[in-house]
Amino acid sequence: MVHDLIIVGSGPAGYTAAIYAARAGLKPIVFAGSFTAGGALMTTTEVENFPGFPDGVMGPELMVKMQQQAEKFGADVRMEDVERVELEGDVKVVEVNGEEFKARSVIIATGAAYRTLGLEGEQTYGGRGVSYCATCDGFFYRDKPIAVVGGGDSALEEALFLARFGSKVSVIHRRDELRASKVMQERAFADPKISFEWNSVVVDMEGEGNLQTLVLEDTLTGERRKLDINGLFVAIGHDPRTDLVKDQLEIVDSYIKVDDPTTATSLPGVFACGDVVDSRYRQAITAAGSGAKAALDAQHYLEALPKPAEEVAELAAN
Ligand code: NAP
Repeated sequence: MVHDLIIVGSGPAGYTAAIYAARAGLKPIVFAGSFTAGGALMTTTEVENFPGFPDGVMGPELMVKMQQQAEKFGADVRMEDVERVELEGDVKVVEVNGEEFKARSVIIATGAAYRTLGLEGEQTYGGRGVSYCATCDGFFYRDKPIAVVGGGDSALEEALFLARFGSKVSVIHRRDELRASKVMQERAFADPKISFEWNSVVVDMEGEGNLQTLVLEDTLTGERRKLDINGLFVAIGHDPRTDLVKDQLEIVDSYIKVDDPTTATSLPGVFACGDVVDSRYRQAITAAGSGAKAALDAQHYLEALPKPAEEVAELAAN
């Protein structure tokens, strides 16, 4: 069977594409991912800037609602990982658990994966002090000193959330100026539990069994000092997830290249949306908007295709 559309990835982009495509009668299959289903918002707390929610909405709740909305219109959402894709030609192949699914069009909405510091300690203390998700692991550090690395909105969001649990939260930033939005900066500066280690990077981690101490280096003087903590949360941004498609689609500066203002990639019938194409805005609402565009682009592409032989025969018979 050849489907009209397969969507790879979930999150605001994938689910919005699914809502639009399902409403257009394309019966999309959405491979939402097993571990990553729902995307980055599944590990966020309150989302305050998504229109329509004047009192804010929890990230996971927003994603579940989008999934339900897509399913209501007939999208087939599966919490499974895509292992391989063949995107050239009129019929695309998507392999999941060894089974091949075929479709005339594909939307790639694989999002972005969190960045790591690239330190050996991240492996040594993974699950024993080092984490990338405050909402997942913050609870373990009740009344303990915690550190967060990063100077963007994610880092401050993590710090503000962790300040509810920890005895204190040290934000380690490599410069003396934050990248985060003004409102987040004001909140972090006003929180008595949050302090800042400016012009500092983590160069080593120490501890017997669990993480106990960070070795920090001053980026201006090169001087090293130690910071005793129990939990380290790394929040230094994300990289687009292109592993599945990077040998088949044109990539520019690690992002899938699209023919702006459309979502068309370098291959006909393949569209991309969300954080995997967006180096600039990276917001839930812009991802959702590009998901809608991808579904409309796929719909127009499918409408312009010659009708399959069996459909022509059926039309002639009637
Ligand atoms: P980001 O804005 O790219 O910030 C990454 C931060 O990590 C920067 O401060 C950067 O330092 C630092 N950094 C990067 N690589 C590093 C390294 N190897 N070592 C140490 N520090 C490193 O990423 P983000 O905070 O994840 O935010 C991504 C997007 O999502 C943004 O557009 C943001 O506005 C949005 N977002 C919004 C909200 C919200 O509205 N509530 C919440 C989360 C995220 P430099 O500043 O020196 O480059």
